[in-house]
Amino acid sequence: MTIEHHFHSPIQPPRRTLMGPGPSDIAASVLTAMAAPTVGHLDPYFLKVMDELQEMLRTLFHTTNELTLAVSGTGSAGMEACVVNLIEPGDKMVVCTNGVFGGRMADVASRVGAEVVEITREFGEVFSVEEIAEVVKKEKPKVLGIVHAETSTGAAQSLKELADVVHDAGALLLVDCVTSLGGMPVKIDEWNIDAAYSGTQKCLSCPPGLAPVTFSSRAVAAMDARKTKVSSWYLDMSMVRSYWGGSRAYHHTAPINMNYGLHQALRLVLEEGMENRYSRHYANHCALKAGLQAMGIQFAVAEDHQLPMLNAVKIPEGIDDAAIRSQLLNWFGIEIGGGLGSMKGKTWRIGLMGETSRGSNVLMFLAALDQCLLHAGYQLSPGAGVAAANDFYRTTITD
Ligand SMILES: *Cc1c(COP(=O)(O)O)cnc(C)c1O
Repeated sequence: MTIEHHFHSPIQPPRRTLMGPGPSDIAASVLTAMAAPTVGHLDPYFLKVMDELQEMLRTLFHTTNELTLAVSGTGSAGMEACVVNLIEPGDKMVVCTNGVFGGRMADVASRVGAEVVEITREFGEVFSVEEIAEVVKKEKPKVLGIVHAETSTGAAQSLKELADVVHDAGALLLVDCVTSLGGMPVKIDEWNIDAAYSGTQKCLSCPPGLAPVTFSSRAVAAMDARKTKVSSWYLDMSMVRSYWGGSRAYHHTAPINMNYGLHQALRLVLEEGMENRYSRHYANHCALKAGLQAMGIQFAVAEDHQLPMLNAVKIPEGIDDAAIRSQLLNWFGIEIGGGLGSMKGKTWRIGLMGETSRGSNVLMFLAALDQCLLHAGYQLSPGAGVAAANDFYRTTITD
């Protein structure tokens, strides 16, 4: 008697250059760290890894917040962890929605039983401190949620001065930093942010799977004053935090090897230096922009609030969105993102996040896009994009 086995082929993914809205390219040393031997979740070695992760995350968030850790799950789990711990059924939450991720935060809040007040802006626009001040004064919410870097639209929301008006109205400020962390300054303490969540797969260049979060003492006090249990058992910070910081009581088994990966990814961030990393993201964004503009391609977001790590651009008239994206993928191994929501079919989202943010990728992408557009019959002067980007690098980058 024979037992038939069906053997699938081993995992052998194609080589890609990940220039979409995430995940971004991963450094080899991060992948290697993830392949290290798994230890127990209470092993003294792993507890040390956790302590170091917390310390590095505090540096990255520019905070001294004690309650800073990596939630098990992707960025969305970080979003859910913040909302579910800060909100009790019937609490009011104002959510600022100018893209897909603001909308998702409102959805999460309503599922937790919040009375959600959504203020909206067109995709690509940002909110002013004045309009937020007006809303929180009128609504008196417990929490105001806002997205720092709206990956769906490419818009950067300024957070300076926001905390004052939110706190004056007696509310907590919750910020989505999934795409901003590691690519532009996220100054939790200086900007007085009460709770923030991020993800590993954007500018931290670690595979998706963990969500860094941080809570101010004001946020911790609000959680400690809850009358009801947190509705999510898995994400209940009162238990998760004692595993990370206190009694080390078993809650759930930490994804050990994911945490190894994040540890190495954060080491790389700190080794580069955060200011250097922010300038690198900004410089490559400027080079890409110079190149695209020379090819007649315009940004979808106004100049003064463009994200450095996510470039949303208008697809030229008559050009087939899906055809160009599949040529980029099939001919060059380059992944970029299409538009979401009202921007679907109208924009491309070109990510320059973390490891992906390199001059070589900018130049390769511009050359590849040049070929795809010429193939589609688009009128452009061949090589103009690459030349303009090179011009930027030559005249701006001195070392
Ligand atoms: C990617 C992203 C998320 C969700 O993160 P996942 O890792 O996909 O769960 C949330 N907010 C923003 C701004 C994002 O860019």
